[in-house]
Amino acid sequence: MTGKLPFEALSVETLATRLGANEALCARIGKGPWKVREVGDGNLNLVFIVEGASGAAVVKQALPYVRLVGDSWPLPLKRSFFEYHALIRQEARAPGSVPAIYHFDEAQALIIMEYLAPPHIILRRALIDGRHLPNIARDIGLFMARTLFRGSDLSMPTKDRKADLALFADNVELCGITEDLVFSDPYFDAKLNRHTSPQLDGLVAELRADRDLKVEAQRLKHIFAANAETLLHGDLHSGSIMVTDTETRMIDPEFAFYGPMAFDVGMLLANFWMSYFSQRGHEQNGKRDAMRAYLLGVTAETWAVFRAEFSVLWRTERTGMLYQKSLFEDQGDILASEQALDHVLHQIWTDLLGFAGIEVHRRILGLAHNADFETIADEDLRASCEAKALKFGRHIAVNRRQILGMDEVNTLATLIERERRI
Ligand code: ADP
Ligand code: MG
Repeated sequence: MTGKLPFEALSVETLATRLGANEALCARIGKGPWKVREVGDGNLNLVFIVEGASGAAVVKQALPYVRLVGDSWPLPLKRSFFEYHALIRQEARAPGSVPAIYHFDEAQALIIMEYLAPPHIILRRALIDGRHLPNIARDIGLFMARTLFRGSDLSMPTKDRKADLALFADNVELCGITEDLVFSDPYFDAKLNRHTSPQLDGLVAELRADRDLKVEAQRLKHIFAANAETLLHGDLHSGSIMVTDTETRMIDPEFAFYGPMAFDVGMLLANFWMSYFSQRGHEQNGKRDAMRAYLLGVTAETWAVFRAEFSVLWRTERTGMLYQKSLFEDQGDILASEQALDHVLHQIWTDLLGFAGIEVHRRILGLAHNADFETIADEDLRASCEAKALKFGRHIAVNRRQILGMDEVNTLATLIERERRI
């Protein structure tokens, strides 16, 4: 296949013929015959696993519409271009954190990449199963610190950063999905919303009438839209991370664009807190007390690793035009540099709590629910888990400027989780 042919969606039947001459793929997996299967659990795109005599690879192709919904919801193919460009930047900034990329074809909107074979599984699935992964906090904390720091004006030559800002500014439609689905739809009766009903109806009405919450959600949307400080993954939740007991890889950065550092961190932590509140719904085969303790430990450790690595990069790699060393270290004023670092980290903390709170809300009230809650078959039990998460999300979003540290947040989570009636 050459990049010049017009776009055509691949299928299990046509893939081997159409990609049979692709050198990058043949070099990885050997020439045909190949075994091709479609993974099919993605919401937006086609994902094929292709196995040959000497290896396997993943072929991910965008479609001109949202796969989950069909052609009534068009979505541009160029999301594949942004995913590819994000992946190669993430690999450069945090080596080993994403699948290796073998080939990109812009016209066919497809990326050929490393197959993360079993025992790799999606992190969300592992957490639903009650598994303790020993390395995720460290791996994800490092990934976020490195990609967010190194994609910003703290590190990059400003000309390069502005060129990237322009490149990713064109990811308009996927940004638009976040702007609507995350920041606005949960707070009114938008068409695509759904929630566990009737159990949550009262609480949903209360949240939508909550003036402080609505204003805060829009302040956060304002930060999201106006604070283009670094290249974000843009969709960093536990469904975008594949793990084994020893390895952690981030996938699926098609929502990548320039936005606030706190957005990726907040979305990620929100998914750990949602997992925490969902555990009560997964206790058929035994109590999940240890899992709950593990998850709160993961949130604390992820944030601690993030802060520590961000601080190291601040001290050793601050080569950009922001907080330039000529004003601080070069004047012998290390304390001023540390003061500025504290300020930057504090801002990320305050904002991440807000983003986390509304991420929790949109996963329970909006279009895109997550399996942590959805797989709880007993609707009363599910609603009780969801109600606690909603209450937690409201508290951390609205009170984010007064919350001092992770202990306070996790104590709050514990208190809410233990409430009998809610
Ligand atoms: P979408 O953008 O459509 O959501 P994803 O990139 O999330 O697609 O991929 C959908 C699914 O395909 C993932 O949940 C995972 O199970 C599988 N998958 C994607 N990339 C890989 C990979 N590199 N190796 C193994 N499995 C993958
Ligand atoms: Mg995706």
